[in-house]
Amino acid sequence: MSEIGKSDLIVVGGAGGFIAGALVRSFHDRGFLRIRAVDKKPLPEWYQQVPGVESLCLDLSDEQACRRTVEGAAEVYNLAADMGGMGFIEHNRIECLRSILINTHMIESSWRAGVQRFFFSSSACAYNTDLQKDPRVRALKEADAYPAMAERGYGWEKLMSEMFCQEYWAERGLETHIARFHNVYGPHGTWDGGREKAPAAMCRKVIEARDKGQAEIEIWGDGSQTRSFMYIDDCVRGIDLVMHEEKLIATPINLGSSELVSINQLVDIAERIGGVKLRRTYKRDAPRGVAGRNSDNTMIKSVLGWEPSTPLAQGLEKTYRWIERQYQDRKAGKRTVS
Ligand code: NAD
Repeated sequence: MSEIGKSDLIVVGGAGGFIAGALVRSFHDRGFLRIRAVDKKPLPEWYQQVPGVESLCLDLSDEQACRRTVEGAAEVYNLAADMGGMGFIEHNRIECLRSILINTHMIESSWRAGVQRFFFSSSACAYNTDLQKDPRVRALKEADAYPAMAERGYGWEKLMSEMFCQEYWAERGLETHIARFHNVYGPHGTWDGGREKAPAAMCRKVIEARDKGQAEIEIWGDGSQTRSFMYIDDCVRGIDLVMHEEKLIATPINLGSSELVSINQLVDIAERIGGVKLRRTYKRDAPRGVAGRNSDNTMIKSVLGWEPSTPLAQGLEKTYRWIERQYQDRKAGKRTVS
């Protein structure tokens, strides 16, 4: 499939955040010369700022802002969304649903501007929740999104936006690509403040307990809920592969690790890295999400001959060390990602 040239304009939405920030950095490092990064957050709050990249502060739920954003683009990557971990998406369903405005305007503007390819970051939360009631899950395959019973709010927005992508291809010929991310973690991601996800939260809790000499760690739910976690480098590589595979036009595909762990096992790994063993208290009424979720990677292996494969212990070590530095920086009064 035709790759774009190094001077073609690439547009990335949500670039002040975790995944899109890493994507922008990777395009820059690979020698792309024209990158436009957009986020509604003021520039000083972006998790990463990459030199030489046109960085704009615009609200992509506004149609005019989307028109301006995609002007002249060859490829558009829409990763902007109001999102966070379980605590955030269970308590902010309206904000999650309102992200539909972002994708609606971004895709329409991209079609009008004649962009070559459009990428949408969907989520495993689009899958039918009835299939995720047991921690010993059967991994989710792409067909499991229908009949639909997505995660309320966030998951339905993703499913609906996927449909937009499919219909823009079917009715208007805009080439769209859709990846369903399963939990992504790594350096330069949210690690505190309520939007962080389990891997970053567990690292922070272990670091904090060590720093304050506490012997306890609080875990949401009973710790038996299972998930798989994809390292950020795998996610960025996967986005590129999915976007440039002809067989995947308008075809949602899992982008996730298939290494299933329980939250208790995740804590074991974080404790091992931190060199401590903490007493666990379980907050059983806290948001815990579905009982179990894993990525079935049959399709991605067969279409791309590749799957995310960074072992959790390896990726978490890098993440832990990065959060540790952030923690120390914050204590020293420096600006940090949170
Ligand atoms: P993030 O919160 O770090 O980044 C999202 C960015 O979008 C934020 O910087 C935010 O300011 C920006 N944004 C929100 N509303 C906006 C608007 N109206 N206009 C412009 N920018 C706006 O999240 P992330 O983890 O980097 O996620 C990126 C994408 O991947 C999202 O679409 C998310 O739903 C999807 N996803 C992430 C995960 C994960 O584990 N991180 C899993 C599944 C799907």
